[in-house]
Amino acid sequence: MFVVQRHDASSLHFDVRIQVGDVLVSWAVPKGPSLDPRDKRLAHRTEDHPLDYADFEGVIGKGQYGAGSVVVWDTGPFENVTERDGAPVELADALERGHVKVVLHGRKLTGAFAFTHTKVGGDEANWLLVKVDDEGADRRRKPATTQPESVLTGRTNEEVAAEDRHEERS
Ligand code: MN
Repeated sequence: MFVVQRHDASSLHFDVRIQVGDVLVSWAVPKGPSLDPRDKRLAHRTEDHPLDYADFEGVIGKGQYGAGSVVVWDTGPFENVTERDGAPVELADALERGHVKVVLHGRKLTGAFAFTHTKVGGDEANWLLVKVDDEGADRRRKPATTQPESVLTGRTNEEVAAEDRHEERS
């Protein structure tokens, strides 16, 4: 499975996570994934997360790393379709080699996406995330900006944060 969490922290970003073995390999994508194959999205590799983090939606408290609200922006199954010289490459191997191609079956994101380890700007953690031009591509629909809500609860980050404050008081 994969999950994308919209994380309204010190700066808004989308945490794109794919299951590799028993962890969620993760990238922080400031602008969020795009369905337009012309867009190159910076994807900053971050720490692996445990699988049970995939359905986390709520507020990370002040003073903690990543303080802010999190919603499950998209989730679903995915397939690894990485190839090298026409032969399939296992995910762990693909990550090591710096080229990962996956087909996402989400509600907002569908079709193939490619992660490439470009180290752009000289930062080892920097990858690029690009939509592969297939039937899931869409040059007009901009889900990262027009569909901010959770696919699990329909809530926005603001609603999650407001509810959290309410719970603290009551
Ligand atoms: Mn984050």
